[in-house]
Amino acid sequence: MLNIGCHLSVSKGFEHMGKEALEIGANTFQYFSRNPRGSKVKKIDEKDIEGLIKIIRENRFPVILAHAPYTLNPCAADTKIREFAHLAMKGDLENMEYLPGNLYTFHPGSHVGQGVEEGIELISGLLNNVLKADFKTTVLLETMSGKGSEVGSSFEELRKIIDRVELEEMLGVCFDTCHTYSAGYDIVNNLDGVLEEFDRIVGLERLKAIHLNDSMTEFGSRKDRHAAIGDGSLGLPAIVNIINHPLLRKLPFYLETPNELTGYAREIKLLREHYRE
Ligand code: FE
Ligand code: FE
Ligand code: ZN
Repeated sequence: MLNIGCHLSVSKGFEHMGKEALEIGANTFQYFSRNPRGSKVKKIDEKDIEGLIKIIRENRFPVILAHAPYTLNPCAADTKIREFAHLAMKGDLENMEYLPGNLYTFHPGSHVGQGVEEGIELISGLLNNVLKADFKTTVLLETMSGKGSEVGSSFEELRKIIDRVELEEMLGVCFDTCHTYSAGYDIVNNLDGVLEEFDRIVGLERLKAIHLNDSMTEFGSRKDRHAAIGDGSLGLPAIVNIINHPLLRKLPFYLETPNELTGYAREIKLLREHYRE
């Protein structure tokens, strides 16, 4: 079975997201660990979490995925912004202990002119400060498009970050199809080659989740504009190829396409129809 879900709003609680996922034909979902552009995080309601855990168990969801806020930039030049990144990730991972065994993805960050090397140093430094051996969450570096001064748009940069983290066994990668295509990895015409390269540099065992998005911009644009499935430069055949690829087909897929719930339900149905059981 295809493991697929989409980004859901956490505003009505955890159990509500589980119900919503079921309503749209999903068997997993992604949510923001806190306000995507701010810092607030709701206090954990254990009864609400219990409700979600029950849904997950009864419906055999694979892992679910939390996404760090966009304002979390581990390699900012401003120390206040870096302090926020530290506190936010630490708090998020502590909260995720209520949902053990799941995934947390974050954008490695933008070095804002300090240079890629310094960026990598700061990102791995943050992870070394925040990760604790007893955390039960796998922390994912997201592949980025390379817009502005983003770090993590090449597999080599991800490798360098991982190499400098002591608890590297807690790290994985979230592969965003829109970002990777924009960054210049041709997953439309040469998916096998890109996966081979990923395996050689990062290692396929690190690959834990896929953000499944089409792209509004052309190959190698270094832009980050998600399109609905089949509406962008990747196109439906390439996306069908991705969900069915022998090395990817068992992973959880998350839609971050510009959609309301009904649109997500439609895309999930379409992709399930194109999945070869
Ligand atoms: Fe993301
Ligand atoms: Fe993404
Ligand atoms: Zn994006």
